[in-house]
Amino acid sequence: MTNGPIVQIEGLTKRFGEVEAVAGVDLEVARGELFALLGGSGCGKTTLLRLLAGFETPDAGRILIDGQDMTGVPPHLRPVNMMFQSYALFPHMNVATNVAYGLRREGVSKHEIESRVGEALSLVKLDGLGARKPVQLSGGQRQRVALARALVKRPKLLLLDEPLAALDRKLREGTRFELVRLQEQLGLTFVVVTHDQEEAMSMASRLAVMDAGRIAQIGTPHELYEHPASRFVADFIGIANILDLGNGQWLALRPEKIALSANRPETAQAISGEVVEIAYEGDRSLYRIAVKAGPVMLVSRANTVRIQEEAFCRGQTVWLGWSNDAGQVLHE
Ligand code: ATP
Repeated sequence: MTNGPIVQIEGLTKRFGEVEAVAGVDLEVARGELFALLGGSGCGKTTLLRLLAGFETPDAGRILIDGQDMTGVPPHLRPVNMMFQSYALFPHMNVATNVAYGLRREGVSKHEIESRVGEALSLVKLDGLGARKPVQLSGGQRQRVALARALVKRPKLLLLDEPLAALDRKLREGTRFELVRLQEQLGLTFVVVTHDQEEAMSMASRLAVMDAGRIAQIGTPHELYEHPASRFVADFIGIANILDLGNGQWLALRPEKIALSANRPETAQAISGEVVEIAYEGDRSLYRIAVKAGPVMLVSRANTVRIQEEAFCRGQTVWLGWSNDAGQVLHE
């Protein structure tokens, strides 16, 4: 074991015929990180995860896990476990047998299997459900069985492909915190693939945004949101107003960085426009405002008590104001 990064990916490329699914990716994941791979459908995130697990062979480049070159190392000999999108539970086996499966194949003693399965089920809060079959569980419980099955082998690196995709919104939000708690408590490294930017932002210590097999940007959620490196990232993470500054420069301005007022504000930048639409979202409302020169602007306002004193309606002329450091200048 070394103290360096747990994952080092160098110039990794994977082609399927004409398609370059992963195109020269360099990436490092530190020990104890919850690292997210985020991107739209077909950007190559699942392929990258499968290359890490050893289910795909790269056309170029290499992967080091825990300092060891994984070239030619088959999946079952890698210090890695993967939790699949479909959970892949065996329907005819009960929960405990599903969780024990990998350990039995490794020839671990019966006594140790029993204690480790009990521990894993308790970690994911499924104590006492060991005798149930997968069909007798809710979607969220099935997700936790899959997680217990991945955790029971105590992998140095756990790869999770869309771990929360099968859960409904409410359960998904709760389970996010559970995953982070487990990852921190056990001191494991997680690499999570998701297309859900809210999920990636709320869980990850760092994330990589992928676009057409390449990494568009790597950073903390805060860095990516506040300082996107390109129009693609600004647009992919959250909502951004992209203003043309001329000379190939653009300004990415987040909706909550713009203040709305009835009268011309004192801010460094101010333009007026007409409210076209208001989308009420409970905690906040999103305003679409048509300005004279430029795109329709999106402005969000938190629906605090104070805001009701200055409510705006559709068709009203309003002022949009922001400070000079409110946005990020982009060059592409
Ligand atoms: P999604 O979010 O839709 O799962 P993804 O980002 O995980 O997408 P990948 O599954 O990695 O994307 O696919 C990347 C590209 O490689 C896509 O164009 C896909 O069609 C292609 N691809 C993936 N696996 C194969 C395969 N076995 N054979 C041929 N093409 C493949």
